[in-house]
Amino acid sequence: MVSRVIPVETFDLVIFGGTGDLARRKILPGLFRRFCSGQMPDNAAIIGAARSEHDDAEYRQIVRDAIVEFGGAQAKRDAGMLDGFLEHVSYVAVDIKGESGWMALAGRLRGDVVRAFYFSVGPSLFGDIAERLHAFGLATSDSRIVVEKPFGHDLESARTLNATLAKHFAETQIYRIDHYLGKETVQNLMAVRFGNMLFEPLWNSQYVDHVQITVAETVGVGGRGAYYDKSGAMRDMVQNHLMQLLCLIAMEAPAKFDPDAVRDEKLKVIRALNPVDYHHIVRGQYAASDHDPSYRDDVDNARSTTESFIALKVMISNWRWAGTPFYLRTGKKLRARTSEIAVVFKDTPHSIFGEEAGRHRNVLSIQLQPNEGITLGVTIKEPGPGGMRLVDVPLDMTFADALGPDAEEVPDAYERLIMDVIRGNQTLFMRGDEVLAAWAWTDPLIQGWTSRREVPKPYDAGSSGPEDALMLMHRDGRRWRDIRA
Ligand code: NAP
Repeated sequence: MVSRVIPVETFDLVIFGGTGDLARRKILPGLFRRFCSGQMPDNAAIIGAARSEHDDAEYRQIVRDAIVEFGGAQAKRDAGMLDGFLEHVSYVAVDIKGESGWMALAGRLRGDVVRAFYFSVGPSLFGDIAERLHAFGLATSDSRIVVEKPFGHDLESARTLNATLAKHFAETQIYRIDHYLGKETVQNLMAVRFGNMLFEPLWNSQYVDHVQITVAETVGVGGRGAYYDKSGAMRDMVQNHLMQLLCLIAMEAPAKFDPDAVRDEKLKVIRALNPVDYHHIVRGQYAASDHDPSYRDDVDNARSTTESFIALKVMISNWRWAGTPFYLRTGKKLRARTSEIAVVFKDTPHSIFGEEAGRHRNVLSIQLQPNEGITLGVTIKEPGPGGMRLVDVPLDMTFADALGPDAEEVPDAYERLIMDVIRGNQTLFMRGDEVLAAWAWTDPLIQGWTSRREVPKPYDAGSSGPEDALMLMHRDGRRWRDIRA
């Protein structure tokens, strides 16, 4: 069931921040899995570049340790291939803000292969890398750069960042990563929507009662407190990940599955979002529990008004979705770790089975975490002789079941996206104008609660968020789906 592996072209991939958390946790284990699957060509080169001094052997040890720690079950199984993978790996110490290391790095790059630079460093360094790549002649006209989130802090900073990158790179060379878009199920969502006749006629406000998008985490802000307290759930999650998911649910069918056609349709959705009334926004902060500190303790800021939870009711002003609310919520220290999009269809116009049959609704649930899969809730007769009783059963398209023992082979989002960079396919990356449009919608909401000096509502760790978030839906005669893994 797992798709054929087509090797990509030979490449030189430079990972700026090659010793950092993201590189060790995601990028390098992902590349190892692609190597094991046969997708990495024999003479591909991965070059770590960071500030600290290491020789190749020391860096290979760092990479080995990272793969053992974060590579999961597959890395354990394929441990015998690790030495072969490490032959592709080398290291150059580079000072991104200075002059040292750049000529050495230039000396490692080949002229006739795909060249990609992954900016896996803090965003304050993106401009320095872009400038020095150019100044030291490392950037060719078809080199690709991969830029991590956060892409700006607001509209103004995102504009500045776009302009800085645009000085040295064309938009077709810039890959703004949102790893949610690399998830198998997110792409499957497009296949389900646009590869079947079944759903599309019903995919509008006439048949869809509402849509819920939930991204819930059980962890708190952890060691990211200083960063997070300047950001909050709106900037860290809604402006990018939830917005992208909303776009994929709400967009019109692109004429073809190509980067600009898809991104044009997503952009139209963002531009059609209504400003959100402040009554339709609930922000929260997790409180201290018996064992754990509060959000304010975690960020070491007793007066912090940054939200660790947010719920919003969003309306889209276009023909397809006028009148259908999209409820978004995301937060930390919630009951379970789960990411789900639920498309809740309307009731049948009349129940021929009478009141006692109860209310039954079709729900298409797209689960992104912890397991990826799609289920469609369908109402059927409860089997047996007990009369006409109705029951909801899920039609399950969960990959783990469909793929059996091969399920864990489904590539992680990062490995898929890195291979897309090498292939030169930007479909699953955010375009500059999309990011700006998302900030243009987000900024006034943040300015609104800042100027009203709103303080987030406390909520218990392990709960579903503040009570007011429940009320946001109750007021509309609806309820959130349970947060459960
Ligand atoms: P990190 O652990 O702090 O690593 C930063 C890396 O940048 C290190 O390799 C460091 O090198 C290098 N570096 C810093 N200053 C440098 C300089 N002047 N010259 C050369 N190298 C320099 O950060 P991270 O968590 O990996 O995050 C990297 C980026 O990914 C950030 O933009 C972050 O927002 C984003 N991101 C991270 C995650 C995640 O799970 N970690 C998730 C999503 C997005 P030395 O070690 O040699 O100092």
